[in-house]
Amino acid sequence: MSRPDRVVILGAGLTGMSAAYHLRRGKHPNVALFEKETTPGGLVRSKQNGAYRFDYTGHFLHFRDPKIAAQVNEWLPGELTTVTRDAWIHSHRVYTPYPFQTNLYGLPLPVVNECLLGYIAARDQDRAPERTPERDAPDFETWIRHSVGNGIARHFMIPYNTKLWGVPPSAMTTDWMNRFVPPAPLDKVVAGALGLRDASSGYNARFEYPRHGGIQILSEAWARHAGPIEYAHEAVRIDAVNRRVGFDTGLETDYQTLISTLPLPVLCALIADLPEPVRAACDRLSWSSVWALCLGIKANHTGGRHWVYVPEEKYPFYRVGCFSNIAPSMAPDGHSSVWVEQSYNRDRPLDAEQARADAISGLKDMGWLKDESEIAVEWPLRMPYAYVIYDAHHAEATATIHEFLRAHGILSTGRYGKWDYSSMEDAILYGRDAAQSLLGIPQNAPTTPSPGTDLK
Ligand SMILES: Cc1cc2nc3c(=O)[nH]c(=O)nc-3n(C[C@H](O)[C@H](O)[C@H](O)COP(=O)(O)OP(=O)(O)OC[C@H]3O[C@@H](n4cnc5c(N)ncnc54)[C@H](O)[C@@H]3O)c2cc1C
Repeated sequence: MSRPDRVVILGAGLTGMSAAYHLRRGKHPNVALFEKETTPGGLVRSKQNGAYRFDYTGHFLHFRDPKIAAQVNEWLPGELTTVTRDAWIHSHRVYTPYPFQTNLYGLPLPVVNECLLGYIAARDQDRAPERTPERDAPDFETWIRHSVGNGIARHFMIPYNTKLWGVPPSAMTTDWMNRFVPPAPLDKVVAGALGLRDASSGYNARFEYPRHGGIQILSEAWARHAGPIEYAHEAVRIDAVNRRVGFDTGLETDYQTLISTLPLPVLCALIADLPEPVRAACDRLSWSSVWALCLGIKANHTGGRHWVYVPEEKYPFYRVGCFSNIAPSMAPDGHSSVWVEQSYNRDRPLDAEQARADAISGLKDMGWLKDESEIAVEWPLRMPYAYVIYDAHHAEATATIHEFLRAHGILSTGRYGKWDYSSMEDAILYGRDAAQSLLGIPQNAPTTPSPGTDLK
């Protein structure tokens, strides 16, 4: 029989490992951390494939909390380097710098004209007394049209976001946006249309990334400090009333508190006898999945670009990137390790064979691949839970589910446990917050997620 104060943590991603680390450092007497895989890190892992190394698509660090930054740098001395973003948009057969709205120069002149006139019209309309203020826009599409106008909406914001999220912006709220969309003040839009380059906008003009080993070295550092991790233990059932969790290994264990970092729909499915209103709330959760094709290419035709947004509908994928342009150690000299990302969901299932064909032909079209014979290795991967969709149900459904879970000693946290849109640093902070609440330590400043980090 376990002690009554037992804390069981499910998932050794950054959130779970941070929770275990902070609990054990706080001398909590009874903590167990279970992970279904045989390695730590969740989405924050890397794969070596021949001479090439890949992450689960781009994972870049943007530290806002100096304590977390100091901690990570102490554990990885000299291993992180600061990188200046080199991000682009590919449309109308040209590359223009990111952000689109403040770098219109280089697009066909009729497109620049349409975007500028739309932007000016939106500014004029915004002054009209009947206009909803931008911040109160009822949905993301309205927000886009109010903020940047119909031209920029048509040529970038709406098609790009529809591909990324798998639902049209009109079906989303603006709750998740926070500071992800770079501002588009008049002076910058005009300067950008004239060719005065502005690549500095947005929260992620610089980021940290490991010199060697890919992003996985971050997870390995946390695993070294988090204490024992019970690998190859997949939680398969939870008795919320009697506070017991069962694993595929046959192990059963009880808990006082369960810290779960599993995706909320997965957690709900494990709980026997979930009350009907909670089950119904769970059915209303919506998300997109991501399929990515990682390629080791025996050449580098990427122009040194880090990643490129691809808004046009003729390409089913929404972004391509090159790990080895960010950290040269990710591929041999003169080669490139590249990724292509495409989203799918319940209503738009993935045809992996078609997605691969589209990725290859798209890369050729964009000039990143001359011939298929240049491909040395390839690794297709799926992230079944990638982006939480903030639709009209999100706030009410998550509130209902978390209320039930809390009442049964289950603290569901992390990007997919909370069911939000947040970053690696947030995951570390969420784990710390969960530990501090159980240790009775007053919370640091409440952790507000930094949405959009992975929208680059
Ligand atoms: C495409 C994409 C790009 C991103 N890019 C960035 C970026 O550039 N910068 C950034 O800061 N963040 C980025 N993120 C976000 C980042 O990946 C997450 O914030 C972070 O990984 C969340 O960590 P977590 O521990 O909460 O969840 P996860 O990493 O999902 O970890 C959950 C763990 O639970 C385990 N698990 C699942 N089911 C069970 C079970 N039944 N039993 C036991 N264990 C189980 C899993 O194996 C996993 O190890 C990106 C995310 C995506 C999808």
